[in-house]
Amino acid sequence: MNSLTTPTVPPIPSASTPVLVVGTGPAGLTTAITLARQGIEVLVVERRPALSGLPRAASVSTRTMELLRSWGLEQEIRAGGVEVEWKQWVGPTLAAAGDAHLTSFPTREQSAVLSPTAPASVPQDHLEPVLLEHLLGFDAARVEMGTEVVGLDSRSDGSLVTLRDVETRGTRTVHARYLVAADGARSTVRDALGIGMRGPGRLSQAIGTEFRAPLWELLGDRRYCIYAVTHPEAAGVFVPAGRGDRWVYGVEHELAQEPSASLTEEQSARLIRLGSGLADLEPRIERIGTFTFAAQLADRFRQGSAFLVGDAAHRITPRGGTGMNTAIQSAYDLGWKLAWVLRGWAGPQLLDTYETERRPVAAHNVARSADPHGGARLAAQELPVDLGGRIVHVWLPSRAGAVSTLDLLGPGLTLFTGGSSASWQRAATSVPGPPLVVHVLDAITARGVGIPHGGALLARPDGATAGWWPPGTDPVAALRGTVQAMPSASHTVDRRTEQRPTWHCMADRQG
Ligand SMILES: Cc1cc2nc3c(=O)[nH]c(=O)nc-3n(C[C@H](O)[C@H](O)[C@H](O)COP(=O)(O)OP(=O)(O)OC[C@H]3O[C@@H](n4cnc5c(N)ncnc54)[C@H](O)[C@@H]3O)c2cc1C
Repeated sequence: MNSLTTPTVPPIPSASTPVLVVGTGPAGLTTAITLARQGIEVLVVERRPALSGLPRAASVSTRTMELLRSWGLEQEIRAGGVEVEWKQWVGPTLAAAGDAHLTSFPTREQSAVLSPTAPASVPQDHLEPVLLEHLLGFDAARVEMGTEVVGLDSRSDGSLVTLRDVETRGTRTVHARYLVAADGARSTVRDALGIGMRGPGRLSQAIGTEFRAPLWELLGDRRYCIYAVTHPEAAGVFVPAGRGDRWVYGVEHELAQEPSASLTEEQSARLIRLGSGLADLEPRIERIGTFTFAAQLADRFRQGSAFLVGDAAHRITPRGGTGMNTAIQSAYDLGWKLAWVLRGWAGPQLLDTYETERRPVAAHNVARSADPHGGARLAAQELPVDLGGRIVHVWLPSRAGAVSTLDLLGPGLTLFTGGSSASWQRAATSVPGPPLVVHVLDAITARGVGIPHGGALLARPDGATAGWWPPGTDPVAALRGTVQAMPSASHTVDRRTEQRPTWHCMADRQG
């Protein structure tokens, strides 16, 4: 039993919830949305009275944008960002000649081949309100701002969590079947669970100045995601932070050189002038803050029915722009798995796969961000980490216009077949397990996805391949074997009442 406060009398919960999410950062909001979209009741608590106003993450990756697009949020997200090419510009000052280098995010041309969407340069303080508004649209979700977790007792049937109203200081206790700690780098829940962090907690320190200045006028068509300036007195990075000439200028201070780094507004403005190369620039300084570069991984992501997600599970330096993206993608993974278990579509062992599948990704991104050259890696190397094992994206026609193969993924299992599909369709109705939707692809699309004529591919909600079969496979044995190998629910879902299998026959491309 872990406890932050030590109650003398065991508290009686005043309410219960299937899932309690702590924190409304990207990890908490994504977990809650994923659950709410599956109809799972979720309570979200956040210590702050309102969302953070700090721009922080500005690089939203390909896979993260695919998830946001699948929720219909792409346009809203992009509306708060700027159009850039995913290259890092390097030069002595912004005004001087320099070079543009490829980054680990795909170029526009590469994105057009890979994905129905593309990375976005959008600040976190635009993305979070879009996510919160989307979440509040679901009856299943309740969000309490100004409410913090101050006590936790882990029990065999869940967690007894003490919540405190930050304003009134009043407390109450809630029982949560599952607890999701999305409470950031200094996670209260992680500490209460006694889970340690491994890795350097202070690699270096950086100072970020948020300011407004008409730098796009200077840059013209050199519109990139990040600008590194090498001016000997002002070496640092300029990062676009949304619309309206909003920028962040960041300088990294090695701890050995300058342990208590801090800048006045005048000092920041001077550095921005030097770095931009515009001697008469008058930047409007809006905020100056310091942040620590840490590269740490939690010893474990789970204890009983409590899960760590996002920065609570891993601290990733801004190098490479993967901290928030890892948080969102892991939160999505945890969200659909919790939903499947709570809906009775899978057994609780499915939740073990959250850590086995997401830890290697987090470990990779933590290590990459600690590498001084980690930010310079290319898309060919890092895209497989971002996209994970999701199925190939191929555009295909539909009555509503072109749709991506990724758009066909459902909340349960999705079976893609290419031609000779009748036996697969029949098999799909006879296999017990989660809801299963069958999509019969035309020959060209099937080929693009890697399904030979008469073969099939089974995908999870996140697009990961659960099974792939060549022609000549016995569909019933193949599907049964694969579905049975998945962690199964204690009861079998009756698809006749839960969700009927449906078949969607895509129009033939050539016809
Ligand atoms: C300068 C900078 C630039 C960055 N750039 C990028 C980038 O380009 N791309 C990228 O992917 N990532 C980037 N990151 C990292 C990114 O900002 C984080 O990884 C991301 O915010 C993690 O989200 P989270 O939801 O896990 O945690 P957080 O965003 O920290 O949210 C945690 C929330 O939990 C709340 N909370 C804490 N304790 C409690 C409690 N006891 N009770 C209730 N609520 C509580 C907090 O108030 C907070 O709102 C950057 C970070 C910085 C600092």
